[in-house]
Amino acid sequence: MTTNDTTATPEFPAGTVLGYPRIGPRRELKKAIEAFWAGRTDAAEVEAVAADLRRRTRTRLAELGLRTDLPAIPSAFSFYDQVLDATALLGAVPARFADLVGDDGRLDLAGYSTVARGRGEDLPLEMTKWFDTNYHYLVPEIGPETEFRYASDRPVREFAEGLADGVLTRPVIVGPVTYLALAKPTEGAPEGFSPIDRLADVLPVYAELLRDLRAAGATWVQLDEPALVSDSVDATPEQLHAAVAEAYRALATQIPADERPAILVAAPYGDLGEALPLLAATDIEGIALDLVRGALPAEPVPGLAGKVVVGGVIDGHNVWRADLGRALDRLESLRGIAGAEATVAAGTSTSLFHVPHDVEDEPALDPTLRSWLAFADQKVAEVAALATGLAEGGLAVKEQILAADAALATRRNAPGVVRPEVRERLAALGEDAFQRGDFADRKAAQAQRLQLPPLPTTTIGSFPQTPDIRKARAAHDRGDLSTAQYEDEMRAEIRRVVELQESIGLDVLVHGEPERNDMVQYFAENLDGFAVTQNGWVQSYGSRCTRPSILWGDVSRPAPITVGWTQYTQSLTSKPVKGMLTGPVTILAWSFVRDDQPLGDTANQVALALRDEITDLEAAGIAIVQVDEPALRELLPLRAADHAAYLDWSVRSFRLATSGVRADTQIHTHLCYSEFGEVIGAIDGLDADVTSIEAARSKMEILGDIADAGYPRAVGPGVYDIHSPRVPSEAEVTELLESAVKSIAVDQLWVNPDCGLKTRRYEEVTPSLESILAATRAVRATL
Ligand code: GLN
Ligand code: ZN
Repeated sequence: MTTNDTTATPEFPAGTVLGYPRIGPRRELKKAIEAFWAGRTDAAEVEAVAADLRRRTRTRLAELGLRTDLPAIPSAFSFYDQVLDATALLGAVPARFADLVGDDGRLDLAGYSTVARGRGEDLPLEMTKWFDTNYHYLVPEIGPETEFRYASDRPVREFAEGLADGVLTRPVIVGPVTYLALAKPTEGAPEGFSPIDRLADVLPVYAELLRDLRAAGATWVQLDEPALVSDSVDATPEQLHAAVAEAYRALATQIPADERPAILVAAPYGDLGEALPLLAATDIEGIALDLVRGALPAEPVPGLAGKVVVGGVIDGHNVWRADLGRALDRLESLRGIAGAEATVAAGTSTSLFHVPHDVEDEPALDPTLRSWLAFADQKVAEVAALATGLAEGGLAVKEQILAADAALATRRNAPGVVRPEVRERLAALGEDAFQRGDFADRKAAQAQRLQLPPLPTTTIGSFPQTPDIRKARAAHDRGDLSTAQYEDEMRAEIRRVVELQESIGLDVLVHGEPERNDMVQYFAENLDGFAVTQNGWVQSYGSRCTRPSILWGDVSRPAPITVGWTQYTQSLTSKPVKGMLTGPVTILAWSFVRDDQPLGDTANQVALALRDEITDLEAAGIAIVQVDEPALRELLPLRAADHAAYLDWSVRSFRLATSGVRADTQIHTHLCYSEFGEVIGAIDGLDADVTSIEAARSKMEILGDIADAGYPRAVGPGVYDIHSPRVPSEAEVTELLESAVKSIAVDQLWVNPDCGLKTRRYEEVTPSLESILAATRAVRATL
């Protein structure tokens, strides 16, 4: 079956990383591309910044110990998104953007940006989560009519750029199977069409690219195929497996080995499972396994003989320093399983673009905590050490192994990592701590206390974060504004927000969250067990970066967090004010979380801290508390077999947080950013009295699922798409509400926007809320 002579496989380095942050240690790329979008610079200037970043990355990776004469350093740059890059490579630009494509099929930087960001009525490519990470990619739109052509030689030029600098890099491209598995059918595609049906038509483009790369001198190429570890892509396992065989027959078997680079297929984010023997049976030269999320193969895999196997033992997805000794042992075990004829190399489990650049950039972090962390640069050094260990034996890297052992030992025993009082409290909880009383009783008690009209109106929590708010926060952070002055300004903002809500006529008011920089970081800063970084930016999508907090120890609440603000707000109005908290699952999803205990245990610690906060809000007279869980769907594991366990701990942590209140205290939750059909059972399990859900864009589809499920509690399907600057008209909202009233009982229905308003401006928010209120009054009149 193997047509390639194994001895002819080009040499692979003993250590490599699957990818590296692209945005720059000081977010240089973000700044450059945003300046370009704003018209302040031209494409040539952005290209120059990007080329400089790529050069600095290569130099840095070489300094940290990756080889430059063998393809250890990935060439994995992107201006916006690697999936959009593949779309540009394949010339698969949707018809509405056809005018942006040059005669040669190319998309220039302006056109590429427009496809990513949209223009006027032409919506951008849809954005969605990249596997179970916080990165978002742009969804390709593929139909039977999509024409593919080799439209971008960017990977070749970037490879040549490295070579000219004396660095033999390894180009990284999204593989053909994953590209199509992540695509969605174009609007006009016939029923039953699946983008993966077009595999045979994209393969020639990949083949051309491979030939070009080889001609430019590339010895290895990396094709990323994470779709193979997921059950959540739009293709069945059978389709995926057939596609793997077809794709790699075309690329590996049918192109002679001396006319293309050797092919490394990377499968980050999970376990290949049944796809491993299938991949191993193809003529590709290498496979990169995620051995952090995935397991070592239990038994020898036929077909690995003669191949390179990259053991992804260094976690590309989290920030903890590795146990180097154990990692080296696992690589040795992998050697045993892969067999004498395979070549094992050390690697990261995923690209490193999910972690910040460099721990050394965090001088303000506690030095002990810092010694437990590994950001991208530290991980590269770990890989380099493992490569030496593999080549020369563990003794050669004894010092590094001992240093890692020492750091891990301090981590295990450090004050704050294990707090007996937190653990004892959790261990002592009975099942009743996770249960509220009967919903019918709660409903009656809350109706009695709150006296709300039918179709109560509310918002999701935040109001616009104005330039003045940001300025005040920045001045406070710099020390130019005292805490007392800052808090005065925030209270003034709260007064404005309350007045506005009263004048518009909303029924349940919020304080507007002006004091929060971010819905997770704010809590991280106010809970024990968390740290925040100064420069720890990671790419969320395009030029958008986030700075996740680090959850390193047992969590507890040293003092009430939101009670003062909420109480102040309630003092300004006779309408009920809704307290506003971020839920345990979302706090975990948007932080780097300790890896030394099950996530469910960590979630319960966060939940207990929130439970105390909610009880304090209740004691302060607050009748409604919302616990946001927008990330509930987001942490859902990639493999269907793991869903039940995840949903169990995530739902339990929410219930633990919210079950400490009286029957007449109303618990709300809010979910957004995803399709909820899959987790409808879990939404029921949360047992929240009211659930607000993003629904405007999908025209309230979710209500059908909810009605079908016989869901008894209240829901607030969003009637205002806050992702768009558009102001919905009264007629539009009325229509949405009328359709809602048809599918769900009136006493179960709330009226609210899709999500928080913090990213919008008052010019949009005020008239939008006015439309919502006018529509609500109109529909109420018909009841
Ligand atoms: N309460 C938050 C807000 O209104 C919820 C944000 C979210 O769902 N992402 O901003
Ligand atoms: Zn939301």
